[in-house]
Amino acid sequence: MKMKREIAARCLAAPGLRSALSTALPRAGVLVLNYHRVGDGTRSRYDRALWSATAEGFDDQVGFLKANCDVVGLDEIGDALRQRRGRHVAITFDDGYLDNHEIAFPVLRRHGVPATFFIATGFIDRRLLPWWDAIAMQVRETTRERLDLREWMPAPLVLEHGDREAAIGRVLAAYKSLPIDQATRFRERLAEQTGIEAPEVVEGHWMDWDMIRGMAAAGMTIGGHTVSHPVLSSLPVDVQREEIAGCAARLREELGIAMSHFAYPVGSRGSANADTRRLLREAGVRYAYSFYGGIATAASTRLDLQRTAIANGIDRNLFRAMVQLPQVFCRPAGA
Ligand SMILES: [Zn+2]
Repeated sequence: MKMKREIAARCLAAPGLRSALSTALPRAGVLVLNYHRVGDGTRSRYDRALWSATAEGFDDQVGFLKANCDVVGLDEIGDALRQRRGRHVAITFDDGYLDNHEIAFPVLRRHGVPATFFIATGFIDRRLLPWWDAIAMQVRETTRERLDLREWMPAPLVLEHGDREAAIGRVLAAYKSLPIDQATRFRERLAEQTGIEAPEVVEGHWMDWDMIRGMAAAGMTIGGHTVSHPVLSSLPVDVQREEIAGCAARLREELGIAMSHFAYPVGSRGSANADTRRLLREAGVRYAYSFYGGIATAASTRLDLQRTAIANGIDRNLFRAMVQLPQVFCRPAGA
């Protein structure tokens, strides 16, 4: 499927063809793109799958968006959704990584393009190493030849000759599909099997509040992404409330803003439930964003606006086809 999309995107790269098709096939709605990290992740100790683009690649993408689309900030999304046709695109970043400020922000400023940053406030406040980065580090750096996670993975994971990045992907996938009450046991078992304790706190990983204030002052939108990045639907209501109201409170205290925009951690179809949506409304959230692909349209509910991920190492032709013909190239997953 992925290959087919890339081949189709390459065929459309002939001069003028993609733009002509884009004009001939008008669309409604807003293509909300999602990024996590920008820069060179190839030697990172952490989860390398989180890098959405290199600095140069991101610069190229933003330049293309500026020249060929109407890039809107999320504070304009209500108006953009109501327009019957257009080529509206929004840029969003999740989590609050330091490279968002150091690398992405200067590129955005240079092009004069707005973006939104969804912040998990506990990461900024406490400099915590998130579980996905911890697991990637443990599996990458262990000297053990195999990992026995038999309760959760059918066979021992052989590391000695295999592709270490693929092994990291498999352990992360196993962790993501766990029932919440097994998460701690899984992490303990992984520490024992790898012989590596993940540190709780990490330096140089996250932005700080001064950086986020600076971006807000420069016209960037700041939204909420909970306190500690749990899958909200897996939690009891009172804990969900702490995650949502607690995030809103920190954004208000540090930035003096209301949490009008919110991105669901993980953002799959099942990551929020009716309680989540009620709590978001109570917290004053106007728009909430998912992460299973697709385009946000006037037909989307306000608390489930679809976003499309920009994947690590995405081909330039595919990126351009996605933003000019999203109705073809940005279908939601599992639809
Ligand atoms: Zn996130």
